[in-house]
Amino acid sequence: MNNFDIIHHGAVEGVTGSCHQFFFQSDSSVLVDCGLFQGREAELFPEGDFSINFPLSTVKALFVTHCHIDHVGRIPWLIAAGFKGPIYATEATAQLLPLVLEDALRIGVTKDAVLIDRILGMIQQMIIAVPYGQWITPFDDSELQVRFSIAGHILGSAYIEFESEGRRVVFSGDLGSSDTPLLPDPTPLEKADVLVLESTYGDRLHEDRQARRQRLESVLHKALRDDGTVLIPAFSIGRTQELLYEIEEILHETRSDKIKNLDVVLDSPLAARFTRQYRDLFHLWDQEACQRRGEGRHPLAFDNLITVDEHRDHQRLVKYLAHSGKPAIVIAASGMCAGGRIVNYLKALLPQPETDLLFVGYQAEGTPGRDILRYGPGNGYVILEGQKVAINASIYTLSGYSAHADQKELVDFVSGAKVTPQEIRLVHGDKTAKRLLKEVLGNKLSSDKSITIA
Ligand SMILES: [Zn+2]
Repeated sequence: MNNFDIIHHGAVEGVTGSCHQFFFQSDSSVLVDCGLFQGREAELFPEGDFSINFPLSTVKALFVTHCHIDHVGRIPWLIAAGFKGPIYATEATAQLLPLVLEDALRIGVTKDAVLIDRILGMIQQMIIAVPYGQWITPFDDSELQVRFSIAGHILGSAYIEFESEGRRVVFSGDLGSSDTPLLPDPTPLEKADVLVLESTYGDRLHEDRQARRQRLESVLHKALRDDGTVLIPAFSIGRTQELLYEIEEILHETRSDKIKNLDVVLDSPLAARFTRQYRDLFHLWDQEACQRRGEGRHPLAFDNLITVDEHRDHQRLVKYLAHSGKPAIVIAASGMCAGGRIVNYLKALLPQPETDLLFVGYQAEGTPGRDILRYGPGNGYVILEGQKVAINASIYTLSGYSAHADQKELVDFVSGAKVTPQEIRLVHGDKTAKRLLKEVLGNKLSSDKSITIA
């Protein structure tokens, strides 16, 4: 293997559009992820044309680290370009993937239900579910072995190890933070010769879980004091379920009757479907979550939780909350405020000082979420779907819910390996994040290691 074995087709300049091509032989390659571009990176594609712009003749399979849209959203375009599978993924990812792609197809490609069904049918046929922690030999004519290990980022997430001729190449996918609600911690890295490492939070440290939960609780108390709405833009998979889990914990432990009776609204049919899948896949939960379930608690389906499905009900609720003076928590997608139902809430409620807007995830450059953080509150405003919306709400960020490892965890992941990687390629991060992570890794590892920014 030489330096040209891996081509990065996405997640190079920023954090979206993950897609790496790994040549395990000169004429045979596999893809790791095939994600959609979002925010500023999406603008590079005129009129949302995400056609695959590299040859597929050597590609023998796609390996999926996890089913966030920025890692899987271009699969329909991959198929349109002639890819026929197979698609390898963990059991949970295999189950969640069709839901994610159905949504992506409906929003970005076509509203034609028959066509969507046909594409999803094709994708279902291609998916091969594999268990965590077992080496598989996917190709009859090659010695290449592959293993999916727990990444602790969202349910089903994995980092993927490829081994051939005694050399190991590892793709981190998105690595989770340790102590993430519901999920087991990432499996420690055993060894790697080459590691392709995400660096989303390569420049910062998260609050610990306890501090984060206390801050979440204090935002809820403030919302109750002024009877405002707490808006939480969240990715449908991962953060939404983590948040529900922590909110259930707060409701369970609080002595305040007002908090106990607080309405928690999940206004996202997709997130509701994922939440159901999360509940069904409880055998993949961590010990703490299983214990709560054993005590008869329902960490993802508590009494205060209201799910909004129909669009009409959604519109009614937005109007109601803008005038009711009744406190509530609303979780809605998209996580970066670039579309989805959260936009209607923001238009109606951002101008109100009683509103609390709580960011729990990364806001990519060029998204309204990033603009709100930059310009508000006070005299700031944000453009939402062409409309100028004043920002008078209070804005908070709880970075620890992001479900990405922070700088220390990334460094620990690398340096904890029995055989630390000879070569590390940093992907999936802003320039500053990558530069700082490179510096810290450089100080930690011996000087013969090569650390490059892809
Ligand atoms: Zn992710």
